[in-house]
Amino acid sequence: MRKDDCLFCKIVAGEIPSTKVYEDDRVLAFRDVNPQMPTHVLIVPKNHYDNIGDGIPDEELGYLFNTVRKVAELEGVAESGYRVIVNTNDDAQQSVHHIHVHVLGGAPMNSGDPSQK
Ligand code: AMP
Repeated sequence: MRKDDCLFCKIVAGEIPSTKVYEDDRVLAFRDVNPQMPTHVLIVPKNHYDNIGDGIPDEELGYLFNTVRKVAELEGVAESGYRVIVNTNDDAQQSVHHIHVHVLGGAPMNSGDPSQK
């Protein structure tokens, strides 16, 4: 399930390069091109969904979020801590409309200004 004009579908297909952190048959995790933290990884389902409100089957959404733990372990931030963000639509400044989970860590963060990543 692919959307032709979607940047992250092109990354999943290998048509646009990315720095891969983890991949299996259902998800791809790669480094954000503009990292906001020492660890800044994006996890996407290989199937296209615009955002978290796009009717993602429970099983697929659960799989996506279970991948967070794997990425945190691979990145060495599972114990020190990390932040998980899913920007959704305009007020949250979602800029790529293929659902993606930001995993941020590697240094202490502030208590969580909701306007920031
Ligand atoms: P969001 O604002 O939540 O939609 O996040 C989109 C993220 O995708 C931003 O943090 C961008 O830096 C990141 N991004 C955009 N293009 C690429 C790319 N080609 N490779 C990796 N990350 C990207």
